[in-house]
Parts: sequence; structure tokens; C-alpha cells
Amino acid sequence: MKELQIVTVIKECRFEELSPEDRFLVERAKAMTSNAYAPYSQFHVGAAILLDNGEIVCGANQENAASPSGTCGERSACFQAGAIYPDAHFRKIAIAAWTRIGKPEGLPDEEYFQDSPISPCGACRQALLEYETRAGSPVEVILYGRKRCYIFPSIASLLPYCFTEY
Ligand SMILES: [Zn+2]
Repeated sequence: MKELQIVTVIKECRFEELSPEDRFLVERAKAMTSNAYAPYSQFHVGAAILLDNGEIVCGANQENAASPSGTCGERSACFQAGAIYPDAHFRKIAIAAWTRIGKPEGLPDEEYFQDSPISPCGACRQALLEYETRAGSPVEVILYGRKRCYIFPSIASLLPYCFTEY
């Protein structure tokens, strides 16, 4: 029996080191966090997707008293992009999140963002993968954190041995 390795090479940098295009996309994701409806988790997530037609479509988590009926920020953006621009392909997605839980009151808004990036849940990875498969080319994932950002080369790199067809 042989062993196989799964290796994912990602980039880490500070926000200021991102390209102007990536910083703009991250700023859109950060701005969207204020549109989150998160009365239960108090965890605000924003996502911004850059399409190959130049449009940016954003989303934010939308919670529900019956938790499975709500959705994450990433899927909120992803499904909206698919519905509004069905023929466009995803190029990049930026994701940002903050919470006030555990942090002192009165900090500047920026300081409520997570120091380290959060990454999409499994369901969002699978949902985003569908659009990467449709695009036929990698969709870069930019995860924002106040102290560091991560750039994944593709959705598939976040979901090794992913399920794409049957
Ligand atoms: Zn999710």
C-alpha cells in the first residue's frame, strides 16, 4: 500500500501587501459584514465575488431561528451571483468576519474583525466548488484577517478529494 500526500500551497500576507484589486474586493467583503443578520451567533460574515464580467456580487450571513434555514455569507454571495449573472464565471472571492463577543466595548470597528482569517464551512466549499467547476478555471479565495490574509489558489484546494460529478 502506498501513501499519498495532499499538499496545498497558500500565500500569507498583510492586507497592505495585497494587490489593489484584491484590497478592493476585501473592502467590499468587509463592508458587507454590516449587512449580516446574525442575532444568534453575533458573528458577522461578508463575502464578495469578482466575476469575469467585472461585476462584484456580495453577500452576508442570514441567520434564522430554525438554524438550518439560514445561510452563510459565502453561499449568500454565491447564489446571488449565480442568479443575477447566470452566464458569468467566478474569478475570486474575498471573505471577512467579525464579532464583538469576547472583545471590550468601544474599540474602533476595524478591531472587531478577526485577527486571523476564517475559512468557509464545508457546505460553502462544496457550493462554491460547483461554480469553480462551471468556470473551468480556478477561483482564488482571499481570506481577510487584521493581522494576516491567506490566499488559496482555488476552491478545490480548500476541499481535497472533492465531489464534482456523478
Ligand atoms: Zn458556510
